[in-house]
Amino acid sequence: MCGIFGIYGCQGAARIAARGLYGLQHRGQESAGIASWDGRRLRVTKGMGLVSEVFADVDLDEMDGTAAIGHVRYSTSGDSDLRNAHPIVASTQHGEVALGHNGNLVNGHSLRESLERGGAIFNSTTDSEVILHLFARYGCGDPIEALVQSLLPLRGAFSLVVLLQGLLIGVRDPWGFRPLVLGDLDGAPVLASESCALDLLGAKFIREAEAGEVIIISDAGVQSLRPFPPSPKAPCIFEYVYFARPDSRIFGGVVFSARVAMGRRLAMEHPADVDAVVPIPDSGTPAAIGFCEVSGIPMVQGFVRNHYVGRTFIEPAQAMRDTEVRIKLNPMPSELSGKRVVLVDDSLVRGTTAKKIIRLVREAGAREVHLRLSSPPVVNSCVYGIDTPLRSELLAANLGLEDIRSFVEADSLGYLSAEGMAGAANGTLEGFCHACFGGPYPAGGEGPGMRQRGLFDKERR
Ligand code: AMP
Repeated sequence: MCGIFGIYGCQGAARIAARGLYGLQHRGQESAGIASWDGRRLRVTKGMGLVSEVFADVDLDEMDGTAAIGHVRYSTSGDSDLRNAHPIVASTQHGEVALGHNGNLVNGHSLRESLERGGAIFNSTTDSEVILHLFARYGCGDPIEALVQSLLPLRGAFSLVVLLQGLLIGVRDPWGFRPLVLGDLDGAPVLASESCALDLLGAKFIREAEAGEVIIISDAGVQSLRPFPPSPKAPCIFEYVYFARPDSRIFGGVVFSARVAMGRRLAMEHPADVDAVVPIPDSGTPAAIGFCEVSGIPMVQGFVRNHYVGRTFIEPAQAMRDTEVRIKLNPMPSELSGKRVVLVDDSLVRGTTAKKIIRLVREAGAREVHLRLSSPPVVNSCVYGIDTPLRSELLAANLGLEDIRSFVEADSLGYLSAEGMAGAANGTLEGFCHACFGGPYPAGGEGPGMRQRGLFDKERR
């Protein structure tokens, strides 16, 4: 869970990168950073917090340059502290290099151990730093060749932006877990995790990077390498379900349209005899639109969401988490009282949010509260960069349907089928990574201890 950005060949690249990162803020709120190339050397600014906080007192014009990369981080590997913030930078035999990574390597740990045994010193606890170490070790004279060689041993999810001797390089792993798009800003090539970052800059969407593609951007234009052996394609279906922004175009489709289609299928698979459809904002809204279309039941705004709740309220203690839901979502008795309602959300993970929301809706006077989810039960942890809790904390990994319904205290419960979810995303299950929904792990890495830490509670939109 991170967002990456890159721009090449335009004045004020660092300032543009900062603006692009605003469009990717939903992908990570822990730290933000930018590296720019001024023709001779790299300049880097990074800090903990939101893009607006990190760059508030930074004169981005001072980071003058014509190429820059940027990153927003949500840690899924390594601690949440400044030394783990990206872009990470190193001085190597191939020159200075800066790298921003979205995804999780499943062999990051073993690669690191063997590098450390060989005497390597690491500055951070992220899996991404191994890539720079591997790069620094390849003794060939060609930096691009050295970069390609450093990518070949990697397993897992890696969408990357790299600034190398003034070149901008974008990489998408051979499985294509995480998105990466290519755009154009008045002739300057742009790379971004999602197309919504291009929209915000007024840049044109050109295409997506292909799975397994290395895009090299220089004064000679945009060139592509495909150095990886063939792998089955496995874009992450959870990007469509929850993670990507609805206004983005990724994996060949528009996220919003896929979510609405999920809601339509949900209404067909699990109708509800109710007076009103109530989306859980914001993540449940597109699916609720689809649910209303098919069922003909009107949508009611059952909650007002407070958009000003920042990380101030993010607190691991359970008591604090309880108030967090109330601070974020205020149910409206005027809309809910006396009604039979179906609540629509994108996913149920631990189930604790849904349980609290259902209680609030009953307190607001609803007569019946039914719950519909526009994705299947989450039964496995992600090892490729989505922050899901340990399996032991996943409700559906431990309880059957009736027990889940009773835990969340809903009158009825319905999950979208896995096939319905993939169909709504214009594909088949085999075309996606759906490991969290019980599918295979396309690049391996599953097994005990697969999640080292659960940060899931920190941010919930
Ligand atoms: P819960 O069932 O209480 O664990 O919360 C599930 C809700 O959190 C879902 O409705 C999603 O909108 C949201 N959510 C799903 N996955 C994540 C994630 N990886 N990080 C933060 N929030 C998430």
